[in-house]
Amino acid sequence: MPTYETDVLVVGSGAAGISAALAARKQGLDVVVVEKEPRLGGTSAISGGWLWVPGNKQGIAEGDTREDAETYIKALAGDAYDAESVKTFLDGVPEALEFFERDTDVEFVHPKMAPDYRMDAPGAKKSGRALTVERADARMLGDDRLRMQPYLYTYTVFGYMPEIGQDLTTFLEANRSLRSFGYVGRTLLKTWFESIVHTRAFTRTNGNALMTRLVATARALDIPMWTSAAVTELLVDDTGAVSGARITGGPAPTVRARLGVVLAAGGFGGDSELRTKTFVHDTRGDDHVTPTVGHGGDSLRLAQARGGVLDTRPHQPASWGPVTSFRTLRGERRVFPHLRAFGLPGLIAVNRHGRRFANESLSYHDFGAAMIDDNRAEDTTYAYIIADRKAMRRYGIGYAKPWPLPTWYYKKVGFLVEGRTLSVLAEKIGVPSDTLQQTVAEFNDGAARGVDPKFGRGSNWFHHFKGDMKHQPNPNLATLDKGPYCAVRVQVGDLGTYAGLAVNSRSEVVTGTGDAVPGLYAVGTAAVSVFGGGYPGYGANLGPAMVFGYQVGRDIAAHAAERTQQRPESDAPSRSPRHNRKKVNS
Ligand SMILES: Cc1cc2nc3c(=O)[nH]c(=O)nc-3n(C[C@H](O)[C@H](O)[C@H](O)COP(=O)(O)OP(=O)(O)OC[C@H]3O[C@@H](n4cnc5c(N)ncnc54)[C@H](O)[C@@H]3O)c2cc1C
Repeated sequence: MPTYETDVLVVGSGAAGISAALAARKQGLDVVVVEKEPRLGGTSAISGGWLWVPGNKQGIAEGDTREDAETYIKALAGDAYDAESVKTFLDGVPEALEFFERDTDVEFVHPKMAPDYRMDAPGAKKSGRALTVERADARMLGDDRLRMQPYLYTYTVFGYMPEIGQDLTTFLEANRSLRSFGYVGRTLLKTWFESIVHTRAFTRTNGNALMTRLVATARALDIPMWTSAAVTELLVDDTGAVSGARITGGPAPTVRARLGVVLAAGGFGGDSELRTKTFVHDTRGDDHVTPTVGHGGDSLRLAQARGGVLDTRPHQPASWGPVTSFRTLRGERRVFPHLRAFGLPGLIAVNRHGRRFANESLSYHDFGAAMIDDNRAEDTTYAYIIADRKAMRRYGIGYAKPWPLPTWYYKKVGFLVEGRTLSVLAEKIGVPSDTLQQTVAEFNDGAARGVDPKFGRGSNWFHHFKGDMKHQPNPNLATLDKGPYCAVRVQVGDLGTYAGLAVNSRSEVVTGTGDAVPGLYAVGTAAVSVFGGGYPGYGANLGPAMVFGYQVGRDIAAHAAERTQQRPESDAPSRSPRHNRKKVNS
């Protein structure tokens, strides 16, 4: 049977997997990346591309300290705080960032403003912990340019994905400022020209830029990246160490990996059976919508067959995000994750009873958790976001863009519901009209004074940052008083799971008794989150994915050597990476 021989097999081509592959390759190892989707990049390529990495140079220069970072993570993780893993992560940040900056095509950008999501918690910082990535020119990928996962369709404006921050603000202000309008016009013309002539625009932003840069480095280092190739089973050698895998769809059906296998195949938000066991809002497996790419629980199943276990300690089993799902006029299913959340002036969120249930300026993760709590007694979990005419025209609601774009399309595809008055809207969405009117009247009373006595919306810097900083007296609050009123239904979705494979601080997969499964590693959303269920700030998934990914790639040869030394000499297989070059035996 044909077997492909290598030192390290990486399963999954997202940020975690490619980071591990690059670090291993830089140690002189042979690596192969196997990706089950036809395109490279996974969820990482459709993401915002932010990394939450306290201890980076900029943060330290701004006065961030190790103690503050630990205090903050601890406050969010509660009982699920894992001091050893947090230490490994924080210790690893400076070296990992230096590696990506020095040895790869990744260029980080340090935004001036990126407040932690829980400014009310001890140790929170207004900026300095989150990084993003310089946009990329996709031509750096050569022939692989179109092998990269494209943007999330709903996140583009006619083919362009605005960068989170000033770029997005400029797009949102195009209806109010001539300068912004000019910038948007020029950007879109360039995007359209390149898309028509070259199939896809060259300029890549956000997570697509991150993955373009990582994959370009992998190409330059001659790392084979197989697409449409799924790992279906992990193989063990006669010592019990994981030593390869079976693959369907790749150039070879079996890969033998002398030093081990890195599972970076994502979480399980796309697997209804696993969700029923871990998501309290989805006990039937049909009440959750994930925008993630390829997160079908493969990491978990593959590892469980070799002794790995699911670690459910995080108090939230996933990083939540409210999402709206709808079908286009051609019948294609689309998902819009509402990551800007709903703290804009003139928008509120209500439940099926027409009552507000949370501070709408919370992060998408905390808002998702609040939705789940509010619906605990119900058999489905959803809410409505409501805007009056002013707010709709100025900000829109998520995918439904503001004036001057017409709203007919969003209404036609069922994304948006409109009612001339609040009571007409209430009837259309099936919410008690009296209660909704009372809720809005109560909200308006405070909003007119710039306060939200019920939930404290607009009471800290993070809330303001997610609002409209130019709106006074409070960037998050305005009355809803002009019809027509619009509503969007939101459900709970995830950006990746937080419950995941139990690992030790070396990212080795461990069994129920805590013993390492030799030769098997898990990073990214395949592994349990280091944040214990909390979502500290912009980049809470990609930060650890890249830091732990880098560490595994850096150390895998040393770990394998340790195992070999512990074995009696006659049992030790030949694992010297530099003398065993890859080959396909057929
Ligand atoms: C719209 C959006 C915006 C986001 N923005 C951010 C952000 O700015 N910062 C942040 O930190 N997080 C963000 N997230 C979350 C973040 O993108 C993900 O949690 C993260 O990308 C997960 O990285 P990963 O490497 O674990 O998995 P992925 O990037 O999803 O890669 C896993 C890959 O493994 C492949 N795979 C699965 N099974 C197999 C198999 N059997 N064989 C081979 N391959 C397999 C999958 O197809 C997939 O390509 C966002 C998410 C979304 C949806």
